[in-house]
Amino acid sequence: MSQQRTPLIAGNWKMNGFLEDGAARASDLAGRMKSTGSDGFQMLLCPPATLLNAVGTAIADSGIFLGGQDCHVNPSGAHTGDISAAMLADLCCSHVIVGHSERRADHGEDDALVKAKAEAAIAAGMCAIVCVGETEAQRDAGETNAVVAGQVQGSLPVGADTSNLVIAYEPVWAIGTGRTARPAEAQEVHAVLRQTLNDIAGGEVADHCRILYGGSVKPGNAAELMALADVDGALVGGASLEADDFWSIAMACT
Ligand code: PEP
Repeated sequence: MSQQRTPLIAGNWKMNGFLEDGAARASDLAGRMKSTGSDGFQMLLCPPATLLNAVGTAIADSGIFLGGQDCHVNPSGAHTGDISAAMLADLCCSHVIVGHSERRADHGEDDALVKAKAEAAIAAGMCAIVCVGETEAQRDAGETNAVVAGQVQGSLPVGADTSNLVIAYEPVWAIGTGRTARPAEAQEVHAVLRQTLNDIAGGEVADHCRILYGGSVKPGNAAELMALADVDGALVGGASLEADDFWSIAMACT
């Protein structure tokens, strides 16, 4: 954690939850934010699109941010089943995740599409959380740093600045597996990502852009990950579905 970047703790609920439990979890977290405050971190919830309205209502005035899990590149049109960045902004979303490895794998999304989605998010006034990460085979082949640097080069949106861009480093082999990058491994990749940002977008963006770690972050490993110099928060999947666990992860930043 660096003094110049406020850690962001983001919950990616993925395709989980119904109105009742989703709204209850969001209300629980909103209550904790209101009573305890959020000194030292920011919190973001990215529920499925079906719950955005209910979660947005539950967290109103709590300081918790609301985000989408994906957006279309176009602002509107004949794209059955898709949701535009403008529609997310209309629901008071401030952030949207783009390029999650599950979307890259399930929907064949490549860097060019991720870049276009990030640009759509920025055009709609939101912050794009651009996800990158290597597969296990790429790590075993010693390609991690080149892979993630290439993903950032290919998916960095035009117009990115310190207010509208977050990078999430999520090793694919660590997502939902209970395996986590060792602290030294995570720090090495985050430093590569920051250097890549510096090379593309300059020192101001590199110094102030938050780079989140994601991949089986839990209450038991959050503190050592959040303590790393170039880790500026977490993108949390499974553990964000339990308010106690998610809150404990946030507390690791305080
Ligand atoms: C994710 O999918 O973004 C993620 C980090 O999941 P998990 O925390 O469950 O590994």
